[in-house]
Amino acid sequence: MQFMEDYLREVKQQHLYRQLAAFEPVDATHSISEGRKYLILASNNYLGLTHAPAVQQAAADAVLTHGSGSGGARLITGNHLYYTLLEKELAAFKGTQAAIVFGTGYMANVGTISALAGRQDVIFSDELNHASIIDGCRLTGAKIVVYRHADAIHLAECLRGTPCTGRRLIITDGVFSMDGDIAPLPAIVELAEHYDAMVIVDDAHATGVIGPGGRGTAAHFGLEGRVHVQIGTLSKALGSEGGFAVGSQLLINYLINRARSFIFTTALSPATVAAARAGLNELISRPKLVEQLHSNSDFVRSRLAGVGFTIDKGETPIIPLQVGSAATALTIAQELKQEGLIISAIRPPTVPAGASRLRIALSAAHNQAELAEAIEKIAAAARRLAII
Ligand SMILES: *Cc1c(COP(=O)(O)O)cnc(C)c1O
Repeated sequence: MQFMEDYLREVKQQHLYRQLAAFEPVDATHSISEGRKYLILASNNYLGLTHAPAVQQAAADAVLTHGSGSGGARLITGNHLYYTLLEKELAAFKGTQAAIVFGTGYMANVGTISALAGRQDVIFSDELNHASIIDGCRLTGAKIVVYRHADAIHLAECLRGTPCTGRRLIITDGVFSMDGDIAPLPAIVELAEHYDAMVIVDDAHATGVIGPGGRGTAAHFGLEGRVHVQIGTLSKALGSEGGFAVGSQLLINYLINRARSFIFTTALSPATVAAARAGLNELISRPKLVEQLHSNSDFVRSRLAGVGFTIDKGETPIIPLQVGSAATALTIAQELKQEGLIISAIRPPTVPAGASRLRIALSAAHNQAELAEAIEKIAAAARRLAII
């Protein structure tokens, strides 16, 4: 199988070869790998809810009461009661008529987008949208127009310049996963209303993170009711697994009948959905969690700026540190691992060549003394490599 060997050799030469490492979580911010304990600055466990006692208990109770798996697709026998409850709770939380839960956020994007557009339509997609959005767009067969990142002026030019006989869809991440910046949703919504386009916002990194009570990007900008579809995941801030879409009852009925990644897959286990419900309940009933996340993010941004990094003013727990080449990003990530820190090195093709970076992701569960110590180690490594 020469083609596989050729591919992997090429990838290794470019410092882009990927391997799996085993991590055994011991709490929301630490894992053991090969006998050593690490501080994790690379997970999406934004509120630490994977280890909230109420969430763990909900999952354990559900396993003992209803078994370990759902045993069927949602439209056959897999639609256990936790689903109905969670979907009601998600819709209420987001202030929409209805919600639908998918197996993952990836499947929510792929299924929703491919159900909403077809060959005669045009999709306008931010150039830094998540891979699951890109894959969903490709499945539609629609014309895909990629606009410059977070650039509403370019989006306007694209809308004006692209003839369309069918429907128009505008799709964007709410909070972008690599840089943690927020989409210019007010301008996008204005343009969508002018061009009669549907707006889909992927709030994977926004739910539980931005907006009042962590209700996401539309709420952050006061645009509830003007975004047609909000996508989210149960696997990041909510501490479980699964994805969702919220919107009108009509939209949800349509997706139940049309979204192939909803129809042709086994339902999530009772424990997974019960844990997601408990996670959502924690988010709603403990507003201090979101405050703590922001306090940790502000703390780390100001400390990193203090040691000489160029830090964009940001409002999210994702903090990119530009380091340049893929090789440098890997070296610094490896050195930090030696010192007990797990921080992702983000390299091409995820980001353009020469724009490799370390990506720090914070949790409400981090404690600031430990974060301060981590920043000292990051600064020392960056000085050794002449990054700061
Ligand atoms: C993580 C992520 C997803 C996928 O969600 P999963 O539940 O992990 O499949 C979708 N969109 C964005 C922007 C993400 O960051």
